[in-house]
Amino acid sequence: MWFMAALSDFKMNEDCAACPLCGHGSFEKLFKKSGRQLVHCRSCGLVRQFPMFPEEVRMACWQGETRLPSGRTFVEHYQQGEVWRRELANRRLDQLREMNFGGGKLLDVGCATGIFIDEARKRGFQVQGIDISSVLAEYGRHHYGLDIREEDAAATSLEKDSFDVVTVFDVFSTMSSPLAALQNIHSLLKPGGLIWLTTCYANIGLWLFKEERPFNLYLTPRTMNAFFTRAGFSRGLARVVVKNANLSTHPGIKRLLYRIPVLNSLARKMVEALAWKGEGD
Ligand SMILES: [Zn+2]
Repeated sequence: MWFMAALSDFKMNEDCAACPLCGHGSFEKLFKKSGRQLVHCRSCGLVRQFPMFPEEVRMACWQGETRLPSGRTFVEHYQQGEVWRRELANRRLDQLREMNFGGGKLLDVGCATGIFIDEARKRGFQVQGIDISSVLAEYGRHHYGLDIREEDAAATSLEKDSFDVVTVFDVFSTMSSPLAALQNIHSLLKPGGLIWLTTCYANIGLWLFKEERPFNLYLTPRTMNAFFTRAGFSRGLARVVVKNANLSTHPGIKRLLYRIPVLNSLARKMVEALAWKGEGD
């Protein structure tokens, strides 16, 4: 694993035996690999990495101190995909508009260089980004003129009850304090505001063969909805979607992966979840 080199310099969290969702301390081991385990909480069923990756390892990845197998830093890797990331941003903004969230104040948590909020701004949103990486945040501020703060969602200084939409794309499962982050996001949303979150699915194949980032959580719709409920959201809707079979970039191989169920299980799956903060229900 490309980020495992960073681990040798850091001590894994030893105080994380408690489940980050329900607080229960009892779990069973599912798989073991390179001194790490994938475990299953006996109380709530949350599947997670144990021990969880400490903050320093996450930071080393996003700051570009560890490099991808290609030799590129994460910033370079992220920006190389700028064209399709902008296309994806616009598809997501279309979906938001269909859900009657076509404007207002939008916060993107883990916004990286800010491509999504750059596109959202073009649609008339008042945008704000936060990211724990100063390198990514600085890129977005300098190149796109965006307001991106170097903050963790679990401890942000943003104003309460001020956002119509908060998006959390593909960063939730790497968080070291996911419940605190969601509780904070809940407090940032206006009544009736929307949180839209996508995250890594509890895909054993992904953990065994295709782990690229320091994922702590492997969520299912059930555990994702439990997170929402515990964070105070009144309505939640989580589902599993197969994003792409990114074991290969070759279109023919991708199609093959989709058609063969066993191989398809190795393909990347996401839990996609929407929750409204709600009001009085
Ligand atoms: Zn639990």
